[in-house]
Order: sequence, then C-alpha cells, then structure tokens
Amino acid sequence: MLDLSIVVPSYNEAESLPELTSWIERVMEENKFSYEIILIDDGSTDGQWKVIENLAAQNKNIKAIRFKRNYGKSAALNEGFKLTQGEVVITMDADLQDSPDEIPGLRNMILEENLDIVSGWKKKRYDNTFTKNLPSKLYNATNRWMSGIKLNDMNCGLKAYRNEVVKSIEVYGEMHRFIPVIAKHTGFGKIGEKVVQHQARKYGTSKFGMERFVNGFLDLLSVNFVMKFKKKPMHFFGKWGIIFFLFGFFIFNLSHERIRGVTEQPLFFLALVALIIGVQMFLAGYIAELIQQSKSQMNTDYLVAEKVNL
Ligand code: UDP
Ligand code: MG
Repeated sequence: MLDLSIVVPSYNEAESLPELTSWIERVMEENKFSYEIILIDDGSTDGQWKVIENLAAQNKNIKAIRFKRNYGKSAALNEGFKLTQGEVVITMDADLQDSPDEIPGLRNMILEENLDIVSGWKKKRYDNTFTKNLPSKLYNATNRWMSGIKLNDMNCGLKAYRNEVVKSIEVYGEMHRFIPVIAKHTGFGKIGEKVVQHQARKYGTSKFGMERFVNGFLDLLSVNFVMKFKKKPMHFFGKWGIIFFLFGFFIFNLSHERIRGVTEQPLFFLALVALIIGVQMFLAGYIAELIQQSKSQMNTDYLVAEKVNL
C-alpha cells in the first residue's frame, strides 16, 4: 500500500497544475513517501488535459481521469476517491491556495492520533472578506450547531482521511462542503482539525459564485436532515403530523364567532395557501433528496472520457 494518495479536483486550472505537482513531488521526495497524485479533470476547456498528459508522461505517480463534461467538485472527489491506493488520502484544491507543505503534518495526525479525518482550518484566510470569509463563518456556526461536529472550517479543500473513510462515503451534488457530516453519519466520527496555511489565488478565477449562498444553505439543511432521519423519516414527519392534526382539531372546535373576523379577510387565505405550498415544496425536496441519495449509492453516472497512468 502507498503511503499517500493526493486527490486534486481540477477545473480549468492549466496554469497552476505544473507548479502544484512539482511542489507535491518535492515534499514527497523530502519525506521519502510512496505516493500517487490523482488529478480529476472536471471537463476543463482551457487545455488542461494536455498539460496533465505531459505531467503524467514525466512522472508515473501522476494518474488522471478526464470527465466528459463539468460535473462539479463533489463528483470529481467521488471518482478520485474510488481510485485511491494510499494508506492516507489527502484532498487539496488545484489552484495553489492550499500548501503541499501541510501534507506530512496532516498525515501524522491521522496515524498518530488514530483519526478518521483531519480537516484543514484556514485560520488566516486570503479570500474576499464579504463574499467568502464572513458568510463562511456564519455557515460554519450553523453547521456546528446542526451537526454537532466542532469544526471551524468544514468546507476547507485541504483534508486528510484514512483510506477506509473515502471508500465508504458517497459525495454527490455539491455535498463536498459537508463531507465530515456524511462521514460521521456513516460511522467515522473521529474528526480532528489542523490550522493550515492559505494563499491568495495565483492564477485563474474562483469557480463558485453567489449561487452557493442559497445552494449551500439548502444543502446544509438537507445533509443534516437527510442523514439524521434517513432511516426513520416517520419519527419526524409522524410526530409533527400528529401535532398539526391535533392543533387543527382544536381550532376547528373553537367558537366560530372568535375566528370569523380573520377568515373574512381575503389575505388570510392567500397566506394559508402560501404556507401550505411552502411546506409541500420542502417535503417534495426532502423526498427527492432521499431518492437521489439512495440512487447515488448504487451507481454514479459520470462519464470518464480519458485516463492516463491508470
Ligand atoms: N473545481 C472542480 N469542479 C468545479 C469547480 C471547482 O473540480 O466544477 C475545483 C477547482 O478547480 C479547485 C477546487 O475545486 O481545484 C476549488 O475551487 P475554487 O478554487 O474555485 O473554489 P474557492 O477556493 O474559490 O472556494
Ligand atoms: Mg480556490
């Protein structure tokens, strides 16, 4: 078994990859680690695959697959995880924002403290304050509260895992932001954190825009919710169903005189309908999420167009 697998999802990062891979190689050689670098070209359009082919020709430890189209970071990690042969698996971003010098320290923590996951913490972060840093703090606080996992930076791209963990979890949609939650519910709850160096993006641009506020928040709800109630949905819905039913029954039996004033206003009905539709949409989303999740555990339908050194 190799000492390390380094999984790098990469979408239009042609400029960064040569620097990143040679930096990783240097760290691996200094520490005498046996390793593999698994690059996942997530349907790039900037000539990245040519760059990867050249790198892979020079170093057989570099392995890569190319997706037929852009499936997203979660899909890239998911497929990369399947290929790993290392005792410890590292994930890192391709854009040089994460430092390969952190790899030995992360690996040590997994092995010495016998942890399932060690998550990086970009304590000093070089991203935009208003679009990234502040929202990220809010997300992390909400997520700590909902998941019970005490991480400061859940969505840090730089993480280390015991191999068994990545082989047991399924990352779909945009759930890469919540891998520790998925892992915990799968049975890998020994999660540590390590402060890591962070740098400003050197080449290219960020791939995640404003839509991640809304999508990230919905995923935050569904990952915590679906994971928790997946096997016993009726305990949640049944309980609230009964509560609402009894409440309705009680109101129905109130004297009509008392509620007449309200029901004579047309807006009341509009509000009522809007509330019911809102709840129904959420329920439909929940059911769909459940189906999507069980489906993704049986088969993933990502098309791999090309491979090197694999
Ligand atoms: N990424 C990917 N597929 C995508 C979007 C991003 O593989 O659809 C990769 C990207 O190339 C990078 C990592 O995910 O290696 C993190 O993306 P980015 O740096 O844009 O995110 P940010 O640091 O701005 O949050
Ligand atoms: Mg980045």
